[in-house]
Amino acid sequence: MLNLSVVLDSAARLHPDRAAVVCGEQVYSYAELNRRARQVAELVRARGVRPGDRVVLICPNLPEFPVVYYGLLKAGVVVVPLNPLLKERELEFVFGDSGAVMVFAWEGTEHLPVLENARRAAVAAGVREVVALSGLAELLAPRPGEADSEPTGAEDPAVIIYTSGTTGTPKGAALSHVSLLLNARMKDLLIPRHEHDVALVALPLYHIFGQTSVLNGNVHTGGTLVLLPRFEPGTALDLLVEHRVTLFAGVPSMFQAFLQADPKGVRLRKAAETIRLITSGGAPLPVAVFERVKELSGLQIQQGYGLSETSPTVTFCPWDEPLRPASVGKPVWGVDIQVVDRAGTRVPAGTVGEIVVRGHCVMLGYFNRPEATAEAIRDGWFHTGDLGRFDEDGWLYVVDRVKDLILRGGYNVYPAEVEQVLLHHPAVAMTAVVGQPHERLGQEVVAYVVPRIGHRIDVGELSAFARERLAEYKYPRHIIVQSELPLTATGKVHKRALS
Ligand code: ATP
Repeated sequence: MLNLSVVLDSAARLHPDRAAVVCGEQVYSYAELNRRARQVAELVRARGVRPGDRVVLICPNLPEFPVVYYGLLKAGVVVVPLNPLLKERELEFVFGDSGAVMVFAWEGTEHLPVLENARRAAVAAGVREVVALSGLAELLAPRPGEADSEPTGAEDPAVIIYTSGTTGTPKGAALSHVSLLLNARMKDLLIPRHEHDVALVALPLYHIFGQTSVLNGNVHTGGTLVLLPRFEPGTALDLLVEHRVTLFAGVPSMFQAFLQADPKGVRLRKAAETIRLITSGGAPLPVAVFERVKELSGLQIQQGYGLSETSPTVTFCPWDEPLRPASVGKPVWGVDIQVVDRAGTRVPAGTVGEIVVRGHCVMLGYFNRPEATAEAIRDGWFHTGDLGRFDEDGWLYVVDRVKDLILRGGYNVYPAEVEQVLLHHPAVAMTAVVGQPHERLGQEVVAYVVPRIGHRIDVGELSAFARERLAEYKYPRHIIVQSELPLTATGKVHKRALS
């Protein structure tokens, strides 16, 4: 028997008075957070929700997120966290697909009527009840908050994460209590313990990276979480300094935004006085960004790699070895990783192939999708759809996604390799390289670039810079200068919107 909410129970026992979540003026201690979560469990039980039922949570990084998340887990409910930016049609799909019986929804804003959309989608999908998070306090008030957690099985589903659908219809990756708990404990195994960590939560909590590596990982050790409801680089830098943050995890575009907002690194240097671990994941971290952050602040960004389907972390940089900036590190405890060719045969170090993963972290399967599950997990190995290679010492390098690979005139071009080169140009802040259809060659290499603040990009000169450093078939034939790049809600560059 195991329930992921044990992370909160133990922190509330060991550190009842410590600040668990801080959001603006609002602070919940661990005792308070645990009491409210128990009240949520009592509320859903009273509404007839049974263990194993699915309940949706739509909420940005606000204190209500952990309150409802742990409350649902305590009731043995499977939590389906969703991005508040989803449109009514998308909500209706997930409500129906997951068979949700209840929804907890944030009010939203004038331009983003989340609650209204959720109510309409719920009617269409036959969901029994929608609870407005703005009215949650009144619903909880009469409840004592003393109920015990449901004794769920370790292998029971705890959370379903819907993939964002960049690869087709969204699928729900069902993750078990034990997978998520082991991943939450990963920090303990990977870096030295610290009496009281303070983490800035800039990654969205509905996404697996923020939820496991930041929320569960820090609650488990009784850390304080400073919530940032919407990422804005200036505010994030201020909060890092103000709260004397010790842990920060982000996606690469966040680090690029820091460099744009703080080009001389004044606040980053100040933040570096207290930060002990700064992590990047979710997308390739350009070496130029790693170097710039290090040069300005002395901080060395450690990479981890993972997916929603793997709870998520499967590799991390070893703490006691010098970093290899282009690498995502080595497989974490209890996880096997291989690089295989198309036939599924393991390839030697140095050879690029598909990354496959086996171990406690792999999802139970896609919810109600036996065929998609059987295609993704073959002979116990989860196929990531990412291309990578190991070096001789067992460090993994993610080369690119299979689906982003550009096939130009019979040659493979890895967009990430071209991006790395462009980012070494002093005028380039961000870039995304994509393949665009070409009559004769099949695909052509196109680069979208964003200039660094105070710099101008000369397209001819940048093209020559790339051509000098890349083989003839790789360098971008078209360079398009833009003031920004489209990002997904998680902060990853939204390549599909460009190609
Ligand atoms: P979708 O929901 O459409 O599947 P997604 O592919 O971004 O969106 P996630 O589970 O959020 O799904 O992200 C996993 C992917 O992120 C990996 O498959 C990989 O391509 C990329 N990724 C994660 N960490 C790294 C890293 N350190 N370096 C390079 N790529 C990474």
